[in-house]
Amino acid sequence: MPAIMKAIIITIGDELLIGQTVDTNSAWMGAELSNIGFDIIRKISIHDLRKDILEALAETAGKSEVVLITGGLGPTSDDITKQTICEFFGTRLIMNNEVLAMVTEMMKKRNFPVNENNRRQAEVPESCLVLKNEAGTAPGMWFEKDKAIFAFMPGVPYEMKYLMKEHVIPELKKRFTSQVIIHRNIMTYGAPEAKLAELLEGFESSLPSYIRLAYLPASGIIKLRLTGTGTDRKALDKAMEENVMKLYKIIPHLIFGENEEPFEVVTGNLLLERKQTICTAESCTGGNIAHLLTSVPGSSRYFIGSVVAYDNKVKENILGVPAEVISKYGAVSEEVARLMAEGARRIMGTDFAVATTGIAGPDGGTESKPVGTICIAVASAHGTVSEKHVYGNERIININRFSIAALSLARKQIIGQ
Ligand code: AMP
Ligand code: MG
Repeated sequence: MPAIMKAIIITIGDELLIGQTVDTNSAWMGAELSNIGFDIIRKISIHDLRKDILEALAETAGKSEVVLITGGLGPTSDDITKQTICEFFGTRLIMNNEVLAMVTEMMKKRNFPVNENNRRQAEVPESCLVLKNEAGTAPGMWFEKDKAIFAFMPGVPYEMKYLMKEHVIPELKKRFTSQVIIHRNIMTYGAPEAKLAELLEGFESSLPSYIRLAYLPASGIIKLRLTGTGTDRKALDKAMEENVMKLYKIIPHLIFGENEEPFEVVTGNLLLERKQTICTAESCTGGNIAHLLTSVPGSSRYFIGSVVAYDNKVKENILGVPAEVISKYGAVSEEVARLMAEGARRIMGTDFAVATTGIAGPDGGTESKPVGTICIAVASAHGTVSEKHVYGNERIININRFSIAALSLARKQIIGQ
């Protein structure tokens, strides 16, 4: 396998550093470069300052094949990139008549005379290849120095995208055609990151150098992303498949899906395949599980309904949870969750019923039941199961985590795990 091509992204502009403008350019460029097989090893954000620009450019020496730079190419005097890069590449600015004609034409269309600032935009470093910008007035510039490619683009996102799509990406593809990159995303739930890493220690060290593993956690779900890079797609596909199979062998109880599919999609698909139905009885999640399930197109084929049993009156009068059970164990208890699930299943006639009762916070916790406590239950023909967990103090995050925990338990019941 060949060495992976590396890239560095530099964004120039004071506004990016003080958070006035969010740097969306580097995220977009990073994704595009990754798609064509580059490893983005560094992103650098700097001031519109000569010294900082020179320093950032010099820092890339010998580290990557490609350096993409955006920003600082406007017509105003704070944009000093162009003069500075002449210094870096040992060249000078010259008038480019083709660019001048384009700028003149553009200004004419907008009914503005061409002024000195516009003329300055048509000046380009003598030694660069000019990348025509049909989306704006500042052209892109392409340099090659010490075996590295430097592509400079304006900061305006749609102009940058135009130059990337029209010039930069096609040219990079032509030069580095042999690269193939494949991602596989394995979704896990049930073990925190540190535990998962412990379980996968041997797996990670057995990975070939051209396959890399990343842990991407969000709301208790940890996505394992395998990225493979090479030249032979078939061989790479095979190697990736083998390693994914290894993962399934090591952590079968933690993997719930692939390809970024969330629990509501995975659970819905299982119900569809089995022609089974589900309903929810939700206290602290307030209908969020029902919302997640119904956000999936086609969910009417398996989702029957939900009772938002926030107040005990609803738990008692609609779901049939005896008042004595609530006063004996408290509304937040596995006993109540189980009876809620059973009650919901009885009145809605589904194969599965999911119930939640907990304390989302930030107030309402006690010593024995702190904020973040959740009791969940799933009732089915196989009986009723329940679990208790304790999460954090943030209300919305808790509601989200409670919902995921409940859907995970439902999934396990559906597949009989
Ligand atoms: P410039 O090329 O530096 O004159 O930037 C022109 C416009 O693009 C300004 O409104 C900037 O805020 C915006 N811009 C510059 N860099 C970025 C970036 N990295 N991400 C998103 N917008 C940007
Ligand atoms: Mg700027």
